[in-house]
Amino acid sequence: MSTIDLDFEEELRPFCQDTALECFNCGTCSAVCPLVNDNFPRRMIRYIQVGARQAILENANELYKCLHCGLCTHTCPRQADPGEIILGLKRFVVENWRRS
Ligand code: SF4
Ligand code: SF4
Repeated sequence: MSTIDLDFEEELRPFCQDTALECFNCGTCSAVCPLVNDNFPRRMIRYIQVGARQAILENANELYKCLHCGLCTHTCPRQADPGEIILGLKRFVVENWRRS
């Protein structure tokens, strides 16, 4: 079971721009993402919003499937910039692995 980390958004700030809270979970990014994979990238952004740090680390392999095509960012109606968030999550995961 995943735990909730209330400080997770702050922990992410050095790695990731602070736009996750702009997301209102419309799902457009997941609809256009060529990966067509279980609500990616919307689900990752939702994990940030609810502080599900462990869920991101447990699903980190999904981040590395991202092609950085930019379609999600281009179509997001809230300027949440999901493509950049995914890149930032990669940075966070690498740093986490490096420290462990
Ligand atoms: S398109 Fe933007 S607002 Fe909609 S779910 Fe994706 S990140 Fe959130
Ligand atoms: S940048 Fe990554 S997450 Fe966004 S649409 Fe492209 S493959 Fe999907």
